[in-house]
Parts: sequence; structure tokens; C-alpha cells
Amino acid sequence: MDKTHLDKFYKKNHAERMKALIAADILTSDDLLLTDALHLTDELADNMIENHLANYELPLGAALNFLVDGKEYVVPMAIEEPSVIAAASAGAKIIAQAGGFKTTISDRTMIGQVALKDIPDLTVAKSNLVQHKKAILKKANDAHPSIVARGGGATDLFVRFIEADNEAATPEFLVVHLHVSTLEAMGANIINTMLEGITAYLEELTGGTALMSILSNYATECLASAVCQIPVDLLKKNDYTGEEVRDRLIEASQLAYVDPYRAVTHNKGIMNGIDAVVLASGNDWRAISAGAHAYASHSGQYRSLSVWKKADNGDLIGQLTLPLPVGSVGGSISIHPAAQFSKRLMGYQSAKELEAVIVSVGLAQNFSALKALVTEGIQKGHMGLQARSLAISAGASGNAIEKVAEQLKQSKNMNLATAKALLQEILTLEE
Ligand code: NDP
Repeated sequence: MDKTHLDKFYKKNHAERMKALIAADILTSDDLLLTDALHLTDELADNMIENHLANYELPLGAALNFLVDGKEYVVPMAIEEPSVIAAASAGAKIIAQAGGFKTTISDRTMIGQVALKDIPDLTVAKSNLVQHKKAILKKANDAHPSIVARGGGATDLFVRFIEADNEAATPEFLVVHLHVSTLEAMGANIINTMLEGITAYLEELTGGTALMSILSNYATECLASAVCQIPVDLLKKNDYTGEEVRDRLIEASQLAYVDPYRAVTHNKGIMNGIDAVVLASGNDWRAISAGAHAYASHSGQYRSLSVWKKADNGDLIGQLTLPLPVGSVGGSISIHPAAQFSKRLMGYQSAKELEAVIVSVGLAQNFSALKALVTEGIQKGHMGLQARSLAISAGASGNAIEKVAEQLKQSKNMNLATAKALLQEILTLEE
């Protein structure tokens, strides 16, 4: 990648940005031709969902400056919210100056659940399951031989007993967890097929009745972590010294650790980046969001997913860990043209590499949001970019969008009413 072509990327127009990405060796001239073909055809969309009517489009943009495990990335983000891509790029730029992100990606093991009820004797049921573990794993693998042929498949089995709760009037359950290596796939369909392949056998072994068999989106065995370490001289902002920004940012992290009301918003900021890349990559963002927010409660209280601390040498250290069971194949990844475009833009070779980029985006997003919050506040940057959306909502088009947006940024009340009034003034002057 020759980054010099990407200088002042945000100031280029659409065609110039595509040319810059080609000049930087990130895309090829074929991609230039293809951007018009990124739209879903009716035929494809009709085959993706039921009762298809039209396509709901989101802007797809590029976040820059990502240095992850020594490799540079341009990251696609599909998102409707202004300022997210700018914030991710700005955060990543500072972190790249500090050496970039270092990531740790766990083995990609997914969990499937078979929930059984009305077990006549729990001790006997558990002992039967443990005794027949090998046979159960074989049956699971026989149900999906192609993933085994690729080197993956069911690897382990665990039994969980959930006691009856008289207050909540819930019965007892015996839940069997099947651990599966799904390789490059997120694996929902692979696992669900395997689970249905073992359900009858589990009923036979336990004497119980199956209530359901389904993948768990709480993917605690598929975790991704990113860390960054930033010297204080890179943190100075307006009147704040680097040390002050570091200390205030650490306090913001502590607040989000102890206060769920703050933690939800803190994590929403992280997911602004993560969901946008997950969506652009063609992965199931609902699955990632559900797992991430559940993981935020793994201590028993909903807390921040990231932690910011002071290093022994005074640097600021940030760390983010969450379940990230994304795939590089499967679902709509291989069929959605925009997901394929995103894959070429990012240039990732495996699901683990994609995880590394995504968790880094989450940390960059969090860093930028906290840095703004504890210094100048979030509205300055956010509303600056929101101004254009307000101008469009007020009815501006063409050159008037920029004119209204510029005047809005100077006005005390940046809202729709002001945008409408400004547009009226501009149109009257132009008459
Ligand atoms: P697919 O059903 O598309 O399966 C992925 C397939 O890709 C595999 O079965 C495999 O088929 C093939 N494949 C090719 N190369 C590889 C490789 N290197 N590693 C692994 N597989 C490979 O997708 P998933 O099973 O991943 O399921 C994801 C989809 O399921 C998403 O669309 C998601 O929205 C949806 N879903 C999600 C649920 C949830 O989150 N709770 C529930 C139900 C569905 P083969 O080996 O036969 O070639």
C-alpha cells in the first residue's frame, strides 16, 4: 500500500477517492468499473430474503490509518451515522503513530445448545452423556461431514444443569453444549445441522425431551482482543495537556466500568465501528451485537467492554475484548457484491484477520469518542458532520447543502428549524 495517495482523502470527491485507492494499490481498475455493480440485483435480493420489495441502501465509506499487527488497512464501513468514519480514522491515525494495534484472536470455537427438559434422573442423564461423549461427537460430525473434511467439526461436549427457579416459576433444564470448530464460517447453519443430528440421541441417553437445538450467540470461545499503547505527547488536545487527557480518559473508562447507564453508551460507541464493518463485510451484525452486549455482563454486571489504564512509563494503554464470530465465507458474504468489494478493500485473508481488524476498529472508535468527550465534548465534531444531514432534511439540494451546513455550524441553534430558516434565506437571495 502506498499511503501517500490517500492524503486528504476526505477532501477528494468520489471519483478521486476511487482513483487514489487504485493508485495506492488497494483496489484495481476493475473495481472502478464494479462500483456501479455493487447494488443488489432484484434477482439476488429476491433469493436472499422473503417478500422482497426494494433494497434499503446505506452509505459505504472507508476508514483510513489502521495499522493492525504491523499491516496497514483501509476499512470499509456501512453506516448512516455521520462522524463515525471520521472518528475511527482520527483515532487510528494517533494509534498508528504509537505503533498500531496488537491483537490476540482465540481459536474459533462456536457453541451449540440442545436444551432438554423433564429428565427423570439428572445424575444418570449426566453420566450417560459423559460416557457416550465420543459417540455424540461422531454423530454430530456425521451430520456435517464437509466441515470435518475441511479440518473442522465438533470437538467437545459439556453438560450444564440449570436449576428450577420457584420465584420465576421456571423448571429445571439440562443443557448440552456442543463445541464446534467452524473454520472460516461463522457456523450457525453448520452447528444447527449438527445439533439436529444429535438431538434424538441425546433424548435417548437422558430420557428427557428436547425443547430446542440452536447455536448460542454468546460466543465465549471465539474472542478477539486488541491493545494499543499511546504516549502522552500524542494526546494533547486544545488546552489539555497529554497527561490530563490520559487521566480524564482513564476516569471515563472507570465510570463506564461501574455505571451501567454510562457503560451502555460507551459500548454503543464501540459498536458504532464494529457493526459498520461487520455489516460491510456481509456478516450477521445482530449476532455480533447480541454476543458483545452479553459479554459486557460476563462479570454479573453490565460494564464497559474496553479498559483504559496508565502504563508504568506514563503511556495510555487501551484494551478491548469481545466475542467476534465473523466468517470469511458463508451467509451473504460470498454473494453480496458490496461484501466482496469490502473484502478486496480490506484485503483480509482469513476470518481471524477480519476479527483482528474489526476489534481494532472498535478500540479506535472508543478512543476517539472518549477523547472528545473528556475534552471538547462530542457535539463539536459530531454536529459539524450532522450539519449536512440537517441541511438535506430541511430540503436543501446541490450547492445549497454546503451553504446551509456552513452557516448552521456558525449558528447557536444547530437544529432543523434553523436549517429551514437558513435555506429559505439562501433561496430568497438566489431568486
Ligand atoms: P453457511 O450456511 O453459508 O455455511 C458456510 C459454508 O461455507 C460451510 O457449510 C461450508 O460448506 C462452506 N465453506 C467453504 N469454505 C469453508 C471454510 N474454509 N470453512 C468453513 N466453511 C467453509 O453459513 P454459516 O453456517 O456460517 O451460517 C451463517 C449464516 O447463518 C448467517 O447468514 C446467519 O445470519 C445465519 N444464521 C444465524 C443464526 C444466529 O446467529 N443465531 C441462526 C441461524 C442462521 P461446505 O463445506 O459444504 O462447502
